[in-house]
Amino acid sequence: MFPPILRKISLFLQRLPGIGEKTANRLSLFLLKIPNNDLKNFGQNLIELKQKIKFCHRCFNLSEEEICPICSDNKRDHETVVVLENPLDLLAFEQGNIYQGVYHVLHGKIDPLNRISADDLKINELINRLKKENIKELIIATSPDMEGEATAYFIKNRVEKEILNKKTIKITRLAYGLPIGANLEYADYMTLKKALEGRRNLI
Ligand SMILES: [Zn+2]
Repeated sequence: MFPPILRKISLFLQRLPGIGEKTANRLSLFLLKIPNNDLKNFGQNLIELKQKIKFCHRCFNLSEEEICPICSDNKRDHETVVVLENPLDLLAFEQGNIYQGVYHVLHGKIDPLNRISADDLKINELINRLKKENIKELIIATSPDMEGEATAYFIKNRVEKEILNKKTIKITRLAYGLPIGANLEYADYMTLKKALEGRRNLI
């Protein structure tokens, strides 16, 4: 039986995705071998995690600032917006310099079985951006499964109803040479680059 402090740490680690009891026990023991200062820094980072991380007010990516470094970068193309399900998808896009535009993170997809509706996502915020900003193209990069498709068409319909009578905005979808049902976050950047180059109009 582990002493209480190790048991507590192991029980916490077991709450993380993909970590079972044995792995958690092994990791807890491993933490004992890490130099004091490193552990202290890690502990401090854990304490600050929730205090420091917020959503960028514009794109809803995770950020320590009100406006994230991508949105505040003048060298990027602010007329092109890739719409993503989550911040991990954004990381996939940022690897390998394949994309110079900006983003909008929805934080999920419309998924009635899990009771996630359009109002739970940052779709109203996207429509507001389209009203205010000078955006020329929306590249919808939600996942190529049923919920991702439904989310893409939901956004397209709203943009058509609320925006396209006032402005011209091209709405495209990634070309999915990406494996069906696969998450963007796992795509390597060459696959993603091709998906981006081969994007088609959403009709
Ligand atoms: Zn941002």
